[in-house]
Amino acid sequence: MGDQDLAVELADQGYQLVGRHSAVKLCYWSRESITRGRDCYKGRFYGIESHRCLQMSPAIDSCNLTCRFCWRNQGWENDATMESFDEPERLLEKSIAAQRRILSGFKGDPAVAREKWEEAQTPRHIAISLTGEPTLYPKMNRFLEICHDQGITTFLVTNGTNPDALRALDPLPTQLYVSVTAPNAEIFERLTRPSQGDAWQRLRESLAIVRDLRTRRVVRHTLVRGWNLGWADAYADLDLLARPDFIEPKGYVYMGRSRQRLGHDHVPEHTEIARFAGRLAVRTGYRVLDASPESKVVLLGRGSVDRYLPGRAPPEGAGLPMAPAG
Ligand code: SF4
Repeated sequence: MGDQDLAVELADQGYQLVGRHSAVKLCYWSRESITRGRDCYKGRFYGIESHRCLQMSPAIDSCNLTCRFCWRNQGWENDATMESFDEPERLLEKSIAAQRRILSGFKGDPAVAREKWEEAQTPRHIAISLTGEPTLYPKMNRFLEICHDQGITTFLVTNGTNPDALRALDPLPTQLYVSVTAPNAEIFERLTRPSQGDAWQRLRESLAIVRDLRTRRVVRHTLVRGWNLGWADAYADLDLLARPDFIEPKGYVYMGRSRQRLGHDHVPEHTEIARFAGRLAVRTGYRVLDASPESKVVLLGRGSVDRYLPGRAPPEGAGLPMAPAG
């Protein structure tokens, strides 16, 4: 990373910079899990142990979008596949070392569950997201491979505008998230301000690719009141292009630099997300499987919870109708 001011700002925000273009940040839920025994909704939905989850980005300063809801300061150094990059072996090793450095700060904290803290030293899951577009890292395949070889499962989160990278994924991540943050090209342009003129078409192309990938696939809708919340018919059409295992409507979180682009009135209530999810369920034929009001997220799926998450009881009292009125 060439920009010293940016490096200082990221360090101030709790990012541990790794190598030339990557960063690790202790997820809020990893901290909650270690200090208060509370797990993230991904634990409930997908069985992730929050305290053993490492959240990182291999492309901290590369993205081809400038989403208004992005937590980062943007001004990306790079908006295409990186030309100079760190090797994946070194990246994984340094990322785990960075996570351990962060965790070392909790060692003397009486609130910390010692057993969990020790387990956390050896991550079992990597969420490749955080900030930046990870598919711009050209060694993603090898990175996924060495994670899996070490018994670490992977979530890869992409903005979906790099279909060639999705087509080339081998191995596939344990779970692939594609963000669909607009119901149509016009809102997409205004909200995500892409650097390439055909980004919307690329996103649609990615959704068609995702349809055939044999891994757990999730389409996420990050929803900003007054911008992209609504248009359930159009979102349903996009979701049905991909036919993912799950759809996650999720409310925008007013954090980081996004506060300079959006106001607090753009943050939806969970009830708005739940209502939207209900409409989407009717239009896609998916079912509302679960919800986490504190994270303002609803989980839609094609079958019962048990089909995807064996052993899990169907949700009760999530505040959502199982067959919502449209
Ligand atoms: S795709 Fe992600 S990293 Fe890129 S601008 Fe949008 S929110 Fe930020």
